[in-house]
Amino acid sequence: MADYIYTMEIRLTPDQMKGVNLVQDIARAAGITLYLTGGAIRDIISGFTIRDLDFTVQGNPLKLQKEFDRAGAQLAGHDEDARTLFLVLPGNVRAEIGMAHTEHYEKVGRPPVITPASIQEDLRRRDFTVNAMALSLNEGSRGLLLDPFNGVADIEAKLLRILHNYSFVEDPSRLIRATRFAARFHWPMEERTQQRYDSARENNYIEHVSRSAVGHEIAQLAHEDDPLNVVRTLEKEDFLKVLHPHWTTAKVDSSGLSQLMKTRQQMVDLGYTVDPSPAVMHFLTAKLADKDLSDLRRQIPRKDLIEAWRDIEDHAKELAKRLTGKEAATPSRTWNLLSAARPEMVLFLAVTARHQTVAGKIKNFLTKWRQVQQRIPLPEMTELLITPQLPEYPKIARDVFMLLLDGKLRSRTETLKFLKPFAPPPPPPPPPPRRGRGPKGAAAAVVAPAAAVPGKKGEVAKGKGKGKSAPVATPPATVAAPVAKPEAKAKPEAKAKPVKAPPKPAQRPAKPAAKRPAKKTVRKKAKARTKAKKR
Ligand code: ATP
Repeated sequence: MADYIYTMEIRLTPDQMKGVNLVQDIARAAGITLYLTGGAIRDIISGFTIRDLDFTVQGNPLKLQKEFDRAGAQLAGHDEDARTLFLVLPGNVRAEIGMAHTEHYEKVGRPPVITPASIQEDLRRRDFTVNAMALSLNEGSRGLLLDPFNGVADIEAKLLRILHNYSFVEDPSRLIRATRFAARFHWPMEERTQQRYDSARENNYIEHVSRSAVGHEIAQLAHEDDPLNVVRTLEKEDFLKVLHPHWTTAKVDSSGLSQLMKTRQQMVDLGYTVDPSPAVMHFLTAKLADKDLSDLRRQIPRKDLIEAWRDIEDHAKELAKRLTGKEAATPSRTWNLLSAARPEMVLFLAVTARHQTVAGKIKNFLTKWRQVQQRIPLPEMTELLITPQLPEYPKIARDVFMLLLDGKLRSRTETLKFLKPFAPPPPPPPPPPRRGRGPKGAAAAVVAPAAAVPGKKGEVAKGKGKGKSAPVATPPATVAAPVAKPEAKAKPEAKAKPVKAPPKPAQRPAKPAAKRPAKKTVRKKAKARTKAKKR
């Protein structure tokens, strides 16, 4: 059986995963049952980019607003009727938390009557099988996938399939959704779905679409990876004009849009998390009249998108102005200014800046100045012990980079000269090898057993192991001290005055194996002496 939790963990970005855990913790604390649903599950399983997180709770999510607020999430809007919260979770993660419900359509084109329901009932009111799955995030069943319409099989077959014959009649916005998904995934509609779709189009059901559904669909375009392709397909199917009667592909700034998507990819490759949606909306509607723009914006349920889109040009102008002023007088200052700016503004300005200085600075920021980073002499810094373990490392590394950017460190020699004073003192030398293993240990090994032999080298062990055959490791007082202070060893040895002593341990090579033959030899000699005495 597939491990969907594992798949989720490897497919979500770290910020999205933190978002899942955050929502899970808040729902658990409130005793509310929680599922990850809809497009997030589809994208996790199919391998497409996971654009946002859709959660469904059995209960009222509007009650959790304060908890989300405390956890640092921003409220981007809410739908009182469907009891849905639109949130931006920390890390810029878009999320929707909706109440599990049923929708009852009393009249075509009228908003449905919404009734709280179980998750199983909720899945039955969804648009396509691939969107009608839920992953439990609840204790006891975490990881269980609810897939009552075989959505996984349709993902594998790459098919869009409605859940019942009246799907497009009930909610004609599903025609727009089917077109959008078909264009995005290049998944065809399953045969019966295609027939219902064609018939709904011919009968012009789309004219009954609700205003709120239109607003939702306009906003969804902002998050497409290839928005121009989706808009073209919608136009071909006569649905673009449903979103706004004056909206055509001729009103799109297609070259700006394609430049935007390229630069966005470039920024993603550089490691930026950048939300292009306000800029996408800007280019998609670039040639629409102001009044049409206001009409479009008014319908969108997420106020964060509306505001960001509305203000994007003004914010870009502000940034452009700063880029031509004192604040950006040097490359390092420009770097700092652009690093502190919102990546969304850098992206937008990279595509729209007309002022050559501004365009050049952004270009350098995204390309040429990155290469300067490679001139930071990391291996030499490691040799100088200027490593990330040093608390002041980030500042040192940053200062070098800034000086290199401004051309104030022109050669490697100059850079190293700058770095050297920051090198910390070398660490103390490592302690010498432990006694008993090295040459001094060998001495102990020799001296100690000899102490058992009366009248000869016994002085070292006298009073300690007298009369006993002292084991090698036993005489701690005489052995342990010199381990810590190698020079102190000389004293006891001097006192021992060994007669025909084995070569001085200090002069011996550090061969631990030397101990044994030495021991044997001594014992043999001792035996021979005893025998001789007896005789
Ligand atoms: P996207 O990748 O475009 O965000 P999505 O499937 O997540 O795709 P949303 O508009 O965010 O689309 O909707 C979330 C989920 O809500 C859908 O997956 C679907 O299950 C359900 N849904 C949205 N709109 C409808 C609709 N008109 N009819 C039925 N279900 C819908």
